Amino acid sequence: MNAPGDRMLQDRILQDRLMRAREAAARVCDPEIPSLTLEDLGILRTVDLEDDRVVVTIVPTYTGCPATDAIHDDVRSALTAAGVAPFEVRIALAPAWSSDWITAEGRAKLLHAGIAPPACLGPSRTEQAQRSVIRFTSHPRDRGQAEPACPRCGSTHTEELSEYGSTACKSLYRCRACAEPFDYFKPY
Ligand SMILES: [Zn+2]
Repeated sequence: MNAPGDRMLQDRILQDRLMRAREAAARVCDPEIPSLTLEDLGILRTVDLEDDRVVVTIVPTYTGCPATDAIHDDVRSALTAAGVAPFEVRIALAPAWSSDWITAEGRAKLLHAGIAPPACLGPSRTEQAQRSVIRFTSHPRDRGQAEPACPRCGSTHTEELSEYGSTACKSLYRCRACAEPFDYFKPY
């Protein structure tokens, strides 16, 4: 019935299911930046087992981002396709996501897509999170940060053209050295 061998086999099946669920969720692409996966963005928080259910927890890039609903649906589809049911996809709001969570690979992919990666906010991020409205609309200069480097030529001789780029989480910049317009992923 419940011989040690059976338990070991069951554990292996569960571990395999968890691993497949994790891989499937990690591979889901961000709807706004399709070259980046949820893993690249640091949106995928945990993949755990609760009783017989696989529980995938994701963190929205910021509250109210319309992409969150799309990501939720995409993760559900990926888990269904991976055959890991029963599962549940949860959205965690705390601790809040920060652009600091974007992985090194994610930052490299952003650059490759012509988007300047966000400046690192560091440990003061939590304090800044409480002033999110101010932070989100403030200019890098006001935050004591250097202008983002141009993803094309690397020059930091860049200027902000518009607070909002192709999406609300990016602002539009132009490089004064090579004249290339580019999106800057706002630090959050
Ligand atoms: Zn340039």
